[in-house]
Amino acid sequence: MKWNKNPVIAHRGAFKKNNLPENSIASLKEAIRLKCYGSEFDVHMTKDGIIVVNHDADFYGMDISSSTYQELLVKKHPNGESIPTLEAFLKEGMKQKKTKLILELKPAKGEEAMMNLTDAAVKMVKDMKAGPWIEYISFHYGSLKRVLELDPKATVAFLASGKGIVTAEKLKADKFAGADYHYSVYKQDPSWFEKAHSLGLTINGWTVNPKEDLQWMLDNKADYITTNEPELLFELLGKKAK
Ligand code: MG
Repeated sequence: MKWNKNPVIAHRGAFKKNNLPENSIASLKEAIRLKCYGSEFDVHMTKDGIIVVNHDADFYGMDISSSTYQELLVKKHPNGESIPTLEAFLKEGMKQKKTKLILELKPAKGEEAMMNLTDAAVKMVKDMKAGPWIEYISFHYGSLKRVLELDPKATVAFLASGKGIVTAEKLKADKFAGADYHYSVYKQDPSWFEKAHSLGLTINGWTVNPKEDLQWMLDNKADYITTNEPELLFELLGKKAK
């Protein structure tokens, strides 16, 4: 498949400029319309085992892990959307073959819940044959290792900042595709770019919004830049956002 060739990953979809809800189908569609390389989103599991797309552990005040999917339908995004299921989200994303879906496995309450979420997400991706669209990211290192056990061909990158980071050598040894660190990590130690690239790892940074920082990431040849400002990043790339 010919994925869009640019470093732009819309953080929680392309939501900000058009005031769309984060992690909604609408913000996913907008990221696709903008021709982003990727659209990032976050997943949690409901009490009855449905994987849903949302950033926080609650959806407008309702705790996701202790609510059933039906119960969550009481609440709506301001644009009228209900909380998307992972299934509906993947179905929408798979209508096209240009923008990747960057799936963040959010921390669950306890190791068992984390592994349940991980296993269920990988199973759904497999069952729906969504593998080519998906890249997995997580702050939970063990969850990403589990993804690779279940699907050795999966693309995974580790999210971290500050003291949570691991070395490029370790990422390589564990067969991760790359680092997905807070960009302050790279600013403190710009040798990360060369180091990672020499090992065949990719560098992604989040959540990069100021113009000068987006430009700094571009100047340093970051592979991916996760941003709330995909339109601005396209402008810096010399492609006028529509
Ligand atoms: Mg996220």
